[in-house]
Amino acid sequence: MHVTAIIAAGGRGARFGAARPKQLLAVGGQPILERSVRAFVAHPDVNEVVVALPEELIDAPPAYLDGARLVKGGARRQDSVANAFRVADSKSDVIVIHDAARPFASAGLISRTIAAAAAHGAAVAAIVSRDTVKRVRSAEPPQYVIETIPREIVYLAQTPQAFRRDVLQVALALGERDEIAATDEAALAERAGHRVHIVEGEASNIKITTPDDLAMAEAIAGGQGRRARTGRAGTGYDLHRLVEGRPLVVGGVTIPHDRGPLGHSDGDVACHAATDAILGALALGDIGRHFPDTDPQRKGASSLDLLSRAVALARDHGFEVGNVDVTVVLERPKIKDHIDAMRAAMAKAIGIDVDRVSIKGKTNEGVDAIGRGEAIAAHAVAQVRQR
Ligand code: MG
Repeated sequence: MHVTAIIAAGGRGARFGAARPKQLLAVGGQPILERSVRAFVAHPDVNEVVVALPEELIDAPPAYLDGARLVKGGARRQDSVANAFRVADSKSDVIVIHDAARPFASAGLISRTIAAAAAHGAAVAAIVSRDTVKRVRSAEPPQYVIETIPREIVYLAQTPQAFRRDVLQVALALGERDEIAATDEAALAERAGHRVHIVEGEASNIKITTPDDLAMAEAIAGGQGRRARTGRAGTGYDLHRLVEGRPLVVGGVTIPHDRGPLGHSDGDVACHAATDAILGALALGDIGRHFPDTDPQRKGASSLDLLSRAVALARDHGFEVGNVDVTVVLERPKIKDHIDAMRAAMAKAIGIDVDRVSIKGKTNEGVDAIGRGEAIAAHAVAQVRQR
């Protein structure tokens, strides 16, 4: 699937009252626009990013927009999006649209919205109203309540909003008419008769509209910054029975020995424990859930590949691996001469420097099954952090 992201940054922030366009203001030390654009440029599901900018920024765009294509914004939001849509890659199956003024959309929310649009044609991130909703007589005084609307059926629309290409094309054609002004593309798609699916949005995905919103944005950025610095840790453990006639593969390296781990795959305990540690750090379950033994692709496959796939999954969730530490418990042979090769192989599979991969060898002092040479085991710890 080919995906184009359109960032609507064409507004001048009339409600904001600042001298500069509000999207250039910084929260948590980073411009709002940079945060919004980065979320899509760095997203694994997004193939290209088009940013609709105010005219005065087009000539000297900020350096952080290097990874995006730039177009001039229009008079209305829908005109900006239409300008961007015109230059979007014709290969794109799904177009995802996002407000530059929402700098905190998570990678997971972006993924879910794109997937829902691919499945249903149109999708909008939205959160259910937590407050009781009153409809009033009019926008002008005197204002009094006409009715109370059940809040369970009231959703507050956010972005991202995503559409199959054909759906957006029809919606934007409708929006080109002067008399039809919409505050979002979903409204145009609705008017065009398309069913727009709700994707559960995020409370932290706020829109920065007035100076008051900046304080909230700083608090969210501060919280995310602390979480990113803290990182997350996971542990993994694996054990395989050792049998004759199987190669002894540990950390992607085959060690000469008269027996090796029994298993559907190569039985590489170091890779399996490290894979589980990464999945554990993300609270995504375990290796069996993501890469079941029954998967014919796994038969005889290198477990370095499973490790790479767990790293890709982490990336999909907006995380990268910081370091991995593995202890291999094996009575014999000694693995110390192979440790450098194992570290290199696992570092390559994870995509990090070799100095972030530690492997240590232990024996079990002759005790228990491992001590009798009947099994091999490994323990691992992985640290991940937000990308
Ligand atoms: Mg295993």
